[in-house]
Amino acid sequence: MTEAWRPDDDEPRGAIGPVRVRVPAKVNLHLGVGPLRRDGYHELNTVYHAISIYDELTARRGDTLALTMEGEGTGELALDDTNLVIRAAHALAGYAGVLPHARLHLRKQIPLAGGLAGGSADAAAALVACDALWGTGLSRDELAGIAADLGSDVPFLIYGGTALGTGRGEAISPVLARPTSWHWVVAIADAGLSTPTAYRELDRLRDTGAAGAPLGSTDALLGALRQRDPRVLARTLGNDLQDAALAMRPALADTLKAGEAAGALTGIVSGSGPTCVFLATNAADAERIAAELTAAGVCREARVAHGPVAGARVG
Ligand code: C5P
Repeated sequence: MTEAWRPDDDEPRGAIGPVRVRVPAKVNLHLGVGPLRRDGYHELNTVYHAISIYDELTARRGDTLALTMEGEGTGELALDDTNLVIRAAHALAGYAGVLPHARLHLRKQIPLAGGLAGGSADAAAALVACDALWGTGLSRDELAGIAADLGSDVPFLIYGGTALGTGRGEAISPVLARPTSWHWVVAIADAGLSTPTAYRELDRLRDTGAAGAPLGSTDALLGALRQRDPRVLARTLGNDLQDAALAMRPALADTLKAGEAAGALTGIVSGSGPTCVFLATNAADAERIAAELTAAGVCREARVAHGPVAGARVG
């Protein structure tokens, strides 16, 4: 009896040529921080929103796992096994039972330690890129499952768009909003802030009664997202970590004031900061506000962005 011919058995799976993945930054339109849990994380009630500031990860076939980079944070960011890109590649290879071999190159535009989830974005990009390179063919939900072990924000960046995050932020459900594009100005600071330190500072402010009232429910924000009016949305943005970021970096108050003086509908600190994001009425206003913020010298750089955009994607 002859064996059935199985043409693909000895063929390498996956991509032969380079795989390029683009991944967005995130902001939290609502970041409600609950109590500190026994595992060291805080219970979150957040609305994530992916914006059009991107990192790009290119994956090529190789005999080992290696990472190089250019752009934001070059020379500062370790490229060894502690890097989230390398950790993501190992995690996927372990899950799928393949060798973690790839030559990875990261082009960063998302600042380090900026409250925009840049490191988490790169981990999400690595999962999507290596999945395509190695032909492991996992679903987005499977990739998000691996992502959750790499960081609380990583699953959201696999999906993108606008989504609710609960648990420590890793449990994602999409928000069905009308197809509206919101216009943002993103004010990037000279130096980053540490996320764990910002959470600890919030706990300290709460213990001493110096923190503002917690945000509570996301209902008002979710209602505003269903309308198309940025003025309505502006009234519902909020971030419980903002007090902590302002305590750690008082000059951010000047950045927030300058954006509103320049005509932004509102401004908030993004995540654990120090990046501040401003909602603009339209794209032209966003450009004007960005130029004024840059001229006012209250940030290293102000960029315009729109959202929501897709998560980590090949192409
Ligand atoms: O999950 P990720 O590694 O991004 O979190 C970084 C740090 O931020 C955690 O070690 C923790 O100190 C803090 N954090 C928290 N509660 C969350 C998410 C993060 O306290 N829900």
